[in-house]
Amino acid sequence: MAQRRGKGALKIVAFDMDGTIIDGRVIYALGQKFGFTSEIRKITKSSRFPYLRSERIARLLSGRQASEVAATVEKTPLTKGSIQTMRKLKEMKFKIGVISDSYTLATEIVARKLDMDFTIANRLEVKNGVITGVLRMPMGWEKIDCSCNQSVCKRYALARVARRYHADLSQSVAVGDSSSDLCMIRNAGLGIWFNPSESVPIGKRENVIRSGDMRLILKHLMS
Ligand SMILES: [Mg+2]
Ligand SMILES: [Zn+2]
Repeated sequence: MAQRRGKGALKIVAFDMDGTIIDGRVIYALGQKFGFTSEIRKITKSSRFPYLRSERIARLLSGRQASEVAATVEKTPLTKGSIQTMRKLKEMKFKIGVISDSYTLATEIVARKLDMDFTIANRLEVKNGVITGVLRMPMGWEKIDCSCNQSVCKRYALARVARRYHADLSQSVAVGDSSSDLCMIRNAGLGIWFNPSESVPIGKRENVIRSGDMRLILKHLMS
């Protein structure tokens, strides 16, 4: 039996992108393509606030063609069962989408592939087809006093999505695989860890799927 917070029919499912609906991480795929993998690692290890790390990583993309980024995203495979899962959720009348601390340039491609309803992510500034390195971050943690300090506070983003669809936060589902998903997974009506990385501090009573097949979330939604 899945652990729920609150009652009421579930209406919305928000997915993290990297490692959740796509098999891999867009920024590392770009790092390989453009040769800045070690810079990403260095920035990731730095102890600054997460949103400052996001800004520094975006600067690595300065001067690159947006179309090259899009081509890399197009090539990144979806996780096993994602297509079937999204189709089923739409049949069940859920609103589905992506909440990611990656870029809209990527989430919009993935959302289109999966016929999703919404995406929230950081926006890379693009001028004449070239990425400037400036990052527009939705943030949100400063408004609700969330301790995540991320470029995208996923809990704040999820609350916004819920409001848009006239639903309560307790009617939302959040699915993710890493610490950046913590604040949305712990505040959604139903939080699901999908194949979480080792470093995630998962609570005893939390819902966890230890498999790479997305279809396994459906049984949590139906119980
Ligand atoms: Mg992830
Ligand atoms: Zn947060």
